[in-house]
Amino acid sequence: MSVLTIDRPVSPLPDHASASGTNSSRRSARKVAGMGQVDMAAIEQAVTTILRAVGEDPNRPGLLETPRRVARMYAEMFAGLHQDPARHLRVQFPEDYDELVLVKDIPFTSMCEHHLLPFNGVAHVAYLPNGHVTGLSKLARVVEEVARRPQVQERMTQTIADLLEQELGTSGVAVVIESEHSCMAIRGVRKSGSLTVTSSLRGVLKSDPNSRAEVMSLIRRKK
Ligand SMILES: [Zn+2]
Repeated sequence: MSVLTIDRPVSPLPDHASASGTNSSRRSARKVAGMGQVDMAAIEQAVTTILRAVGEDPNRPGLLETPRRVARMYAEMFAGLHQDPARHLRVQFPEDYDELVLVKDIPFTSMCEHHLLPFNGVAHVAYLPNGHVTGLSKLARVVEEVARRPQVQERMTQTIADLLEQELGTSGVAVVIESEHSCMAIRGVRKSGSLTVTSSLRGVLKSDPNSRAEVMSLIRRKK
């Protein structure tokens, strides 16, 4: 099996200029992805309620802008709820190449739906083309958009595999995600540094032991 392996594709992330958020004079000019689709006022109100509930004074100077910042952050983190990642995969090119395509180490940040805390890591996405290929950056865009939802890592892995299987008419798909969960690191068992690995294999990459072993060894292989 010959293989096309791409490490660390160009990040599909939108401009993160809004992340610092400390200079309030700049804030009104910037729009973050997802802002048009969420009820920003409701989030701001909820954050004010939480601050009060934990014993804070939402009116002290340091917290005055916090509800607005958190609303913008949530709009961005959950922008994927209003996007259809399948559209990226509909861009396809006829190509004779029918061996494995693997894009490794696609960085992402998602939100654990149990605690609304981020989990960060990398996704490895592979498929066997069936007469046509999709753009390599499209695979990274799919990971990026699927990540921007509240979810568990297990479902994120399956969602990406489902999308590839449905849109590419492929005979095999492999998705492996490795990530660190803030909710395990900073609360509860407080085990920082532990890595959660999930995989979703489809078609030949699941049923044929040799193909499966090959794709998994390529994913595990360090540069
Ligand atoms: Zn959690």
